[in-house]
This record gives sequence, C-alpha cells and structure tokens, in this order.
Amino acid sequence: MFPGTEEAGNPNSNSFVNPEQAGYVGFANLPNQVHRKSVKKGFEFTLMVVGESGLGKSTLVNSLFLTDLYPERHIPLASEKITQTVKIDASTVEIEERGVKLRLTVVDTPGFGDSLNSTDCFKPVIRYIDEQFERYLQDESGLNRRHIIDNRVHCCFYFINPSGHGLKPLDVAFMKAVHHKVNIVPVLAKADTLTKLEVQNLKRRIMDQIEDYGIKIYPLPDCDSDEDEDYKEQCRQLKNAVPFAVVGANSIIEVKGRKVRGRMYPWGVVEVENPEHCDFIKLRTMLITHMQDLQEVTQETHYENYRAENLANGGSPAGKASRGQSDGLSQRERELLQKEDELRKMQEKLARMQAEMDSKRPEVQPNGNIKTHNV
Ligand code: GDP
Repeated sequence: MFPGTEEAGNPNSNSFVNPEQAGYVGFANLPNQVHRKSVKKGFEFTLMVVGESGLGKSTLVNSLFLTDLYPERHIPLASEKITQTVKIDASTVEIEERGVKLRLTVVDTPGFGDSLNSTDCFKPVIRYIDEQFERYLQDESGLNRRHIIDNRVHCCFYFINPSGHGLKPLDVAFMKAVHHKVNIVPVLAKADTLTKLEVQNLKRRIMDQIEDYGIKIYPLPDCDSDEDEDYKEQCRQLKNAVPFAVVGANSIIEVKGRKVRGRMYPWGVVEVENPEHCDFIKLRTMLITHMQDLQEVTQETHYENYRAENLANGGSPAGKASRGQSDGLSQRERELLQKEDELRKMQEKLARMQAEMDSKRPEVQPNGNIKTHNV
C-alpha cells in the first residue's frame, strides 16, 4: 500500500467519519435540512376565500392572520351589487413568526353571488385559478426555474350562508366547477347566529349534500397508525368538524380580566378563539398543520390535472375557461342555476314594484292631515 492512498480520492473523508456511531449514516437529519431550507426560503401560500358578500370573509381572514389585509375596502351599495361583476382581489402579506417567514396571498372574490346572473359569477374565479397554473407551467418550462414564485391557489375556503337550509344551487354549482382545480374547505359562516343544535344539524345536512352531489372537498389526510395518540385525536376532531362553523371579529373585548377577540351581545360575548363557541381554532390548526399537504395535493393532483388537460388540448385551458366553455356543470345544474336567477330577478322586480307603490301611497302627517304625492 502506498502512503496516503486512503486519503487521495477524498481529502476530507475523515470529516465524514463518526467514530462514536459506526454504521450511522446520518440521514435522520434530512427532515431538519428540508425544514432549514424551507425556513430560509420562507413558505409561500395562497388562500382563496369565496362566498356571498357579507358572510364575514374579510373579518375571518383578518382574525386568522391577525393582520388587516383590507385597509381600504369599498363596501358596495345594494344598487351597485345588482350589476356588479366578480372582482378578484389578491393581497399579499409577509408574516414572520420566530424566524419563520410566510408569504401569504389571500385572494378575495368580492361580488360573488351578488349579481343577478349567478351563472357567470364563478367564471372569473375559475379563470384566475387556471391562469396561476398556466403561469407556473410557463415558468417551469422556462429558463429561470429555480426562482419560480408559486402563486397557485392552494386552498379555497368556501363560505356557506348560515341562514339557508343547507347548500344552495349556486354553492353546489361552484364547488363542482372547481373541485378538481383546488382544495375546497367548506366553512359555515357566522355560526354565532345559530344555536348549538342548529349548527350540528346544518353541518350534517351540508355533508350529506356534499356526498349526494358528488362534490370532492379537500380530504384531510389520515393519520398513520404509529402517530402519537394526541395527534391522532387532533386529526379525528378536525375531520369531524368539517364544515368548520366559524365566527370572526375584529374587536378585542375584556371578559373577566381576559382580553379576547370576540363579538359582544346583550347576553354575553362570543369568543372567536374559544373552541366551545366555534371552530375558528380548529380551522386555523387545520390550515397550519396541513399547509404542506395542501401544497402537495395542489402540486400532485390539481396542477397535474391541469397539465394533463393542457397536453390533451394542445393549448391552454385557461384560455378555454375565459371563453366560457369549461364550467364543469351538468345540464341539470345549469337549469337549476337558471331557475335561481329567474327567481332572483322576480324578487327584484317585486321589490321595485313595492318601493314604487310605497312612494305613491298617501302619507299620514303627524297632525292627522293626509298628504298626497303628485302622480
Ligand atoms: P365579506 O363581505 O364576506 O367580506 O364580509 P365582512 O367581513 O365585511 O362582514 C360583513 C358584516 O358581518 C360586518 O358587519 C361584520 O362585522 C359582520 N360579521 C363578520 N363576521 C361575523 C360573524 O362571524 N358573526 C356575525 N354575527 N357577524 C359577522
């Protein structure tokens, strides 16, 4: 043997030897590496919120991330809403907690469900989702693949009106049109307007409808059998809570010496972060603990669907959606939506007629005289 040959191939080979733990390769540290890399790079996450206006979407988002994402929001008047088309508002904030950065984009869809023609209201939403896939696809096949910004929509909170008796045709149609494009998490809005029993019944009804209509919501992943019991219990509770019954509030109220985020009523305070009062904490836990899974499902299922569709068409499905051909609805669902539109139009007409009649009705003056309007 020649002196020094052991070292010749790898001058630093000694630094990789662990004399104390022979046979220990060290890949147990891989998760830490992945973790360190993601921490350095920061997480990118896009959350979309969809639902009729006034259901508390912006309040909930602000409560979830403890930031004011919409400082200069314009709330439309009822008259503006009738003709309003759906806008897509994307706001990005960078949140840092204990050195971990999160670049969070929240995509709001003001005007959804407001317009008389609800059949069209989710097309801009579909187009937005597709455009983000398209952009990612372009970036991925381009030269600068290492620095792609991922703006794909990783999760969509769909807000369900608590005053209905379950899902409306618009809810069903929208969810069916996007369930193969995005992870849908159904949310029962303003749960403080319902009793505990009403929440339970409405949740059950919504889940039955989701199953009956074949809507595919985000499947919370199953726990492995070797996970610890606390984690298993948490997963079970999160799964059982769907659709998450939430309450949002932007005010901090003092209750028995504690400062809580809540809504004050004459009979007491509804605490947003109290699991006895609503599922807000469960929703936030779900989002944080499953953030990576939501990203993986987006990449492996929804983005792959898009890519496959793109390849099959030899072009861009984003363009197709914008031309209004791909709403993913069956004939029956389209008819139901049309009926709902007609009903709305009739209600509008009735309300206008009523208002007109009211304005022409003789008014009784406080002194007993009757004043008549010129007709
Ligand atoms: P958006 O149009 O869906 O974004 O709804 P907003 O967040 O602007 O809320 C509309 C109104 O509902 C505001 O007056 C809020 O204070 C109120 N609101 C928001 N969240 C809740 C809730 O959980 N319960 C109740 N009762 N009211 C809420």
